[in-house]
Amino acid sequence: MKAAHNMEQPALPDPIEIATNTTNRSNRAYITEQEVKAAEESKRIEREAQAAAEQRFREENEERLLELKRQELEAEERSVALRQRTLDSEVKAEEERKRIEREAQAAVEQRFREENEDRLLELKRQELEAEERSVALRWRALDSEDNRCVICYDRPINACPVPCGHLNCCMVCLTATMDRGCPICRQKIDKIVNVFG
Ligand SMILES: [Zn+2]
Ligand SMILES: [Zn+2]
Repeated sequence: MKAAHNMEQPALPDPIEIATNTTNRSNRAYITEQEVKAAEESKRIEREAQAAAEQRFREENEERLLELKRQELEAEERSVALRQRTLDSEVKAEEERKRIEREAQAAVEQRFREENEDRLLELKRQELEAEERSVALRWRALDSEDNRCVICYDRPINACPVPCGHLNCCMVCLTATMDRGCPICRQKIDKIVNVFG
């Protein structure tokens, strides 16, 4: 550890000089003082080296901790980005699913409307046909000899006396002869109803 430091150490006394002055007390005291100083200096240097090593260790560890922290943050960011992408794609998939569902529903409703429209048109057509047949039948009945007014023998029967209900006259004749009562049963006529519109 001392080798790592280029700090100048105080020159140690020459051992030969020490040997040749072993009887000199002041010299001996000087040597002892020098040795103590050298030992203190050595300890100081050691402490400084230790402190420097600890400082370097702390700094290196701090850098390593910062690097670890940075990597953690990066990993967290990547994770968040990934989660966001996953969420985005899930939302998109859900929207797509709903869109397809709506389209399918709309297609079903459209088909149902079309089919029902056809059925409704067919019903309407059948109704009209029935109505036409009914009208034709009515006209035939009104035109037949048996359905001519018993008074004028000309117009079709279309007037019904109330309350007796004898269907035998046209509206013109029955109205004209109302005061005389029903031409069939002579019952008093309260009112006359037009039966074939
Ligand atoms: Zn008549
Ligand atoms: Zn009558």
